[in-house]
This record gives sequence, C-alpha cells and structure tokens, in this order.
Amino acid sequence: MLYSQAVLHSVPELKEFVSLARYTTLQIGGPARLFAEVSTEDEVAAVAGFAKKHGMPLFVLGGGSNVLVSDSGFDGLVMRVAVRFSIRERSDGEMVLVEAGAGESWDGFVRYAVDRGFAGVECLAGIPGDVGGTPVQNVGAYGQEVSETIVRVRAYDMVAGEFVELDRAACGFGYRRSVFNSEARGQYVVTSVTYRLRPGGEPALRYADLKNHFSARLEAGEKPSLREVYDAVRSIREAKGMLAGQGGPDGRSAGSFFKNPVVPKAALDRIVATLIIPAERIPHWPEGEDMVKLPAAWLLEQARFFKGFEMGEVGISSRHTLAFINRGHATAAEMVALRNAIQRRVKAMFGIELEQEPVGLGF
Ligand SMILES: Cc1cc2nc3c(=O)[nH]c(=O)nc-3n(C[C@H](O)[C@H](O)[C@H](O)COP(=O)(O)OP(=O)(O)OC[C@H]3O[C@@H](n4cnc5c(N)ncnc54)[C@H](O)[C@@H]3O)c2cc1C
Repeated sequence: MLYSQAVLHSVPELKEFVSLARYTTLQIGGPARLFAEVSTEDEVAAVAGFAKKHGMPLFVLGGGSNVLVSDSGFDGLVMRVAVRFSIRERSDGEMVLVEAGAGESWDGFVRYAVDRGFAGVECLAGIPGDVGGTPVQNVGAYGQEVSETIVRVRAYDMVAGEFVELDRAACGFGYRRSVFNSEARGQYVVTSVTYRLRPGGEPALRYADLKNHFSARLEAGEKPSLREVYDAVRSIREAKGMLAGQGGPDGRSAGSFFKNPVVPKAALDRIVATLIIPAERIPHWPEGEDMVKLPAAWLLEQARFFKGFEMGEVGISSRHTLAFINRGHATAAEMVALRNAIQRRVKAMFGIELEQEPVGLGF
C-alpha cells in the first residue's frame, strides 16, 4: 500500500522502506514497510495509534538480538523502542526498586546495579539487547532469570489504547516465556521495567561454570564480590562468543537458536536406545515431577552438528554449538534451511522437537 506524504507526516518519526538487517545482531533481513524509532511514551502512543488507525501490523523491536527477519522484510510497521531516562531508584524495606527505560542497554543496566552493590542481576551480565526485551523473553543465564527480580512492567496496551502496569504475576513468566511472547503477543509495547534488587546482597553462584571459575577462592572460604561475578560472567561469555557487542566471525548471531527442550522423562529411554549409552550419561535437569530439561547443544552434537559447522553463508559458531551465525552474506532462507536440517535430524534420532528461540519476523 502507498501512503500519501500527508499521512506519513502525521507522525514525524515514520520512515519508509528501512532495511532491518542493520537493526539485528544477525544482520539479516529485508526492509520494513514503515519504521519509527520512538524515544518517549507520547511517541509510542502516536506510532501505535497510527498502526491501529491504518490497520497495519505492528512489530516492536528492541536491540534486535533475538530476531530473525525474513529476506522479504516486514509489510507492516516496525517500532524501535528507544525510551530512555535516568534510572529511578526507590527503597522498599531492605530492598531497592530500580526502574529503567525499555531502550536502555541491558548490560549497561546490570553494570549500574553491580556498581551500586545491588544483587539480583549480576549473572545476566553481557547479554545483548535492551531492558524492554528482558521481560518478553524472560532472559536468563548462569542460574538467574529476570523473572526473579521483575516486580513491574509499564507498557502501552494496544487493545485498551492506554498505558498499563503489570505486576510479576500478570507477566506469566516461564522458561523463556511470558504473556508478552505468548497469549498477549503483540498487545504490549514495554516502556519501562522495575527490578527489585538487594543492596549489599551476595552474588548468586548456582551455575557449574561460575563455581568452577571461583573454585580456589570458594575452597578457601572466600566469596567473590558482585563485581567479580559480573566480570567472570562476561569473560566466560566472551570465551563462548556470546558477549554483547562482541565482534569477529562468531559475532553475527542471535544467541542460542534453540530453547532447551523440556520433555517427559520417558524421552530419555529413546535416547538411551538410540545412542546405546546409560541414562546417567545423558545430561538433564528435573523440571517438575515428570519432565526433564535437556541441553539442546548436547542433542545437536549427538546429531553430528558441531561447532564450526558450515552450510553456505550460515553456520554454527566456532565457540558455541547453539549459536548460528551469519558468515558474511547470509540470507534468512539459508538460516531457515540450517534450522530445518537440524530439527529434522534431532527429531528422527530422538523424537524431540527443537523449538526456535529467536522471534521470526515477516515469515
Ligand atoms: C550473543 C548473544 C547472546 C545471548 N545470550 C542470551 C542469554 O544468555 N540468555 C537469554 O535469555 N538470551 C540471550 N540472548 C538473546 C537476547 O539477547 C535476549 O532475548 C534479549 O533480551 C533480547 O532483547 P532485545 O532488546 O534485543 O529484543 P529484540 O531482539 O529486539 O526482540 C525480542 C522480542 O522481544 C520483543 N520486544 C523487544 N523489546 C520490546 C518492547 N520494548 N516492548 C514489547 N516487546 C518488545 C520483540 O517484539 C521480540 O518479540 C542472546 C543473544 C545474543 C545475540
């Protein structure tokens, strides 16, 4: 559809045919029919109102670190949320409530918290993207998830046409899940998030990689500081090519391409039968009574997809089995072909469906 200049000028932020590749960490994808970068709540409401009035599909973009855009792009309006303001703090008994604008860099926010001695997000250092994307995907790593600390999400409700505030229960958090990416997908534009953090709290050391990093200190009865844990997480992530802003050949990725599958315990029997190995050698964690979570990276390796695997212009990072990379001039079609090939083989071998983690746009 063509829009007259008068219509387009009714919302000053709107631009036409903007390439989305440069707004995503994969650097793949065609143009958005309309694109608007918004930095205030008024602009959010105006752009959302425009999309509603003209019946245009709207996609909300943060840092673009968990998105795969199709080669034909998106025949709708992409709203890039860049709402930033000075981080606001308020005490809450022994805790502190810290509110950050959706467009703030997530790693910058973690550093802010750590510098002030606020515990609760230190293990989430070095994850790319913005604050606004963290409740959507319930971002997690190294034993922490944002659902443990988020107490309030402020958002524009596209259905009600007004700003609303959701508490933790209303966010419906699960593993890489929230209402924002499931039943209410597309309904909310997050403009700020409030985290409840513990001043002077101890860092979380739940994850094996982190405990190993500090093993000598822990054996000597010493606890690392928040800042040391922040630095350690960043250096572990860097070694895996998973650090925010990291360049190099493994830098063009969307992080883990598959979620770790949660399957009935009985699924382990099929793996035992296929690989002819004892169940104890299958890495897994209990999820409730009858389910287990399996590391997707391990399944890929059993299916003979290893680090450094190449398929034309796409491939698997040389440092992380789950990070699929754009080797230079990749298309979304090639990325989808790699995904399908892996999903097919894992399904055929183990009967397990791997679910894509990055959000697809324009497919
Ligand atoms: C190298 C690398 C490592 C990563 N490591 C991890 C990790 O350890 N753990 C982890 O959980 N994730 C990880 N990720 C994935 C990604 O960084 C997170 O999911 C991140 O929170 C996405 O934020 P974003 O701002 O880039 O969102 P985008 O990629 O722009 O968007 C992701 C989804 O959130 C929605 N969204 C974004 N902002 C808003 C908003 N303001 N309002 C409403 N909806 C919004 C989008 O519509 C989309 O559905 C990694 C990614 C990369 C590239």
